[in-house]
Amino acid sequence: MKKNAVFIFSDDQLGYKFSDTHPFNQKRLTLTVDLLKEMNALSLSDIVAPRTATEEELSLVHDPQYIEIVKKASLENSDTNIYESYGIGTEDTPIFPHMHEASASLVGGTLTAVDYVMEGKASHALNLGGGLHHGFKGRASGFCVYNDSSVAIKYMQQKYNARVLYIDTDAHHGDGVQWSFYDDPNVCTISIHETGRYLFPGTGNITERGSGEGYGTSFNFPIDAFTEDDSFLEVYRTALNEIIESFKPDVILSQNGADAHYFDPLTHLYGTMKIYQEIPKLAHELAHKYCDGKWIAVGGGGYDIWRVVPRAWSLLWMEMNDIRTPEGGLPKAWLERWSKESPIPLIPTWMDPNPLYEPIPRKAEITEKNNQMLDKALFLLRQQQSYKKHQ
Ligand SMILES: [Zn+2]
Repeated sequence: MKKNAVFIFSDDQLGYKFSDTHPFNQKRLTLTVDLLKEMNALSLSDIVAPRTATEEELSLVHDPQYIEIVKKASLENSDTNIYESYGIGTEDTPIFPHMHEASASLVGGTLTAVDYVMEGKASHALNLGGGLHHGFKGRASGFCVYNDSSVAIKYMQQKYNARVLYIDTDAHHGDGVQWSFYDDPNVCTISIHETGRYLFPGTGNITERGSGEGYGTSFNFPIDAFTEDDSFLEVYRTALNEIIESFKPDVILSQNGADAHYFDPLTHLYGTMKIYQEIPKLAHELAHKYCDGKWIAVGGGGYDIWRVVPRAWSLLWMEMNDIRTPEGGLPKAWLERWSKESPIPLIPTWMDPNPLYEPIPRKAEITEKNNQMLDKALFLLRQQQSYKKHQ
């Protein structure tokens, strides 16, 4: 029987760990799984263990030489300074034991999710361990070693001949995935992120539209620092609705970084939990409207691991399963259990306290700037659409 959704997870995914103090902290997976189990929203029969990606699969995207370097770095006592030109052993992406195996396992998780959906065993699949969107062909970057989404997209093209829409709502530009498919007309990448003016990786301008045959299938929506829910969602909904109508994908792959929240320590956006309720809602609706339900979702950034990520990612799984947000707030047992460990008070409700912050005087100006950006970023697409209509 076809399942509605599967949840890809095993404790192996916690092995992707740079250090005890690094901001990328997979403890958020433990917290999320525990929260969903406590609510009875996730049962053992929903969980599927990830497989490991083979070297052949990794090399669908990554240079064999880079894979060799990652493998070498994974062995203890290796000399670190030869690796920096490959982006590893840096402050952002330090070397850790079994780095290759742990990274390949996250990619394997996304491939497991893909096979479930593309073979028709489940309509949707979620791999919160994935979403490492900064991984490049021959170089690690921004906490990402191998790029699970890029490998999964190539894999879907080769094995299932699929036309893929990639939607990235992480606060950082989805650069690795974008550049991997920049000239490919059968993969459309959309990234909504805080403008690169002051934020890593600095790319993701509206003028990055693709190249060659892929021109017009790369979309970027750089929003202003301090952008709030309404403007974020206006950009997201308008962009997604117009692009999907024109691109008509076979499957949606969404990257669900949860770092656009006001609490996130690494970014400057002012989202609240509302965006994490609304983002998956539209992706879900469109997957059914255009892709016969085929929707694969992965995790991504998210650096307030106590107050933001477990709630945001639980909302994503609940949306996949048509579970309504419980009115009574988070389960008491979960709050009690983790309050002891959390360095900050946990938030007991699904949505954030309102207001969450002092009003921003520049709100109207920021909204207006984002709207102008949105129009410019969609200009070409709208021009093509009206040309088609008048043919
Ligand atoms: Zn991010």
